[in-house]
Amino acid sequence: MSEGKRTLMTAAWVVGHEEGRHTLLPGGEVVYQDGAILFVGHDFPGDVDERIDYGQALIAPGFIDLDALSDLDTTVLSFDNHPSWRKGRVWPKSYMEAGPYEMYSPDELVFQKRHAFARLIRNGVTTALPIASLYYREWGETVEEFEGAAEAAANLGLRVYLGPAYRTGNPVVVEENKFELFFNEPRGLKGLADAISFCERLEGRHGGLVRTMLAPDRIETCTPDLLRRTAAAGKDLGVPVRLHCCQGGFERETVRRLHGMTSIEWLKSLDFLTKKTLLPHGTFVSPSRFVPEPGRDLEIIAEAGSVIVHCPLVAARFGDGLESFSSYRERGLRIGLGTDTSPPDMLLNMQIGLMICRFVEGKAEACRAEDYFDAATLGGADALGRPDLGRLAPGCRADMVVWDLANPDIGQIIDPIQTLMISGSGRDARTVIIDGRMVMRERQIPGMDFAADAVRAQRQFEGLVEKYPDRTWAHPTAEEIFSSAYRIVRSTGAAQG
Ligand SMILES: [Zn+2]
Repeated sequence: MSEGKRTLMTAAWVVGHEEGRHTLLPGGEVVYQDGAILFVGHDFPGDVDERIDYGQALIAPGFIDLDALSDLDTTVLSFDNHPSWRKGRVWPKSYMEAGPYEMYSPDELVFQKRHAFARLIRNGVTTALPIASLYYREWGETVEEFEGAAEAAANLGLRVYLGPAYRTGNPVVVEENKFELFFNEPRGLKGLADAISFCERLEGRHGGLVRTMLAPDRIETCTPDLLRRTAAAGKDLGVPVRLHCCQGGFERETVRRLHGMTSIEWLKSLDFLTKKTLLPHGTFVSPSRFVPEPGRDLEIIAEAGSVIVHCPLVAARFGDGLESFSSYRERGLRIGLGTDTSPPDMLLNMQIGLMICRFVEGKAEACRAEDYFDAATLGGADALGRPDLGRLAPGCRADMVVWDLANPDIGQIIDPIQTLMISGSGRDARTVIIDGRMVMRERQIPGMDFAADAVRAQRQFEGLVEKYPDRTWAHPTAEEIFSSAYRIVRSTGAAQG
């Protein structure tokens, strides 16, 4: 077997790895070949085919995004538009009865995934477990679009774990501020069967770049049978199972009303929790300020060895957050990170997460820059059972990001991780290498016109906004649904004399 090109990369700083901890190597070198890392250190003794010196930059392991935004920006729909039932984020009964429909065409769904995957790469994410909203879907995600997503990921070179989201239920607004759960169990079980067959067919495709997972939607939209069967299938297939839970008051009240316990107690009773269970968001747990009653939620998660998928940015925008990141770590909980919202900027998530942890704990010493850097790299790799990801060490996959430290806006440096946590942004990712393939070079992704795609994405998004009144309570106009920061003053068209 002939060997591929051997490349040596060097920069002002390299994140190495020794004895389970990252290290920092000033003027370090990384050598990789055939998708794997051969050497990390100084003064590589062997021959190489190519040398690249990135100068004032940091070469670091890519981020592992366990709840990776694979949508257009749906955050702007909700950001300053509340409550959700009045603003089209819970379907009204009238829309349900009229027959929900797909608000994006199949082509638009494929474009959206590809565009979102490119955005992840542009933010230094090298492994992604995609998530998208189901609000504008007819019901769940489809196998066809995920086959398209697998192609898009392989084409761009993004490492992914894919699985179409499915559900047996959906909340419906029946009168002002009053919801009921509408269930269609056969439909959800069909979604699970399709997802299982997707996993069987797609696992390990494209040289292992495409892996699979099971992704039932939020816990309150699942029936016990769907969750039991999902857990069993996850064990059979050996794939991660991701379920949104402990993320809000509506969920907590619904699960309590329907099942008489907390979300986590319910999952335990269904034998759902394993070491491969990924749980975004884990904020509304007992006891916490959000669930002010005694409870064992965190102990149950820790005992099962399941993983909290911490998504600080989306939580903070909704006025909540982990209470706290550092105390969860002290309890021995496994924690990985997710972007979950727009922008899919992992660095921004880490910065917000750090600040919220320090605020909640009331002290600057509550957590350090590396605690978040570990969660975004080693935490994600641990969650996926992938000791070959999330670190730069011989034998690991060559998944790396070159971060620009030469930009004068970045400020000064004692330690490059701390500087990134202070003033870095996803936009500082210069070059991204995944499985030894250069998927972004100096912010250019081969074969992609990102500016033209952004225009197309805006047009597609405007089509969605136009359809919004169909699935908003009492069907107000789009202008009434979406507030603006200030009164909009348009030209009257009359020439002034
Ligand atoms: Zn989420």
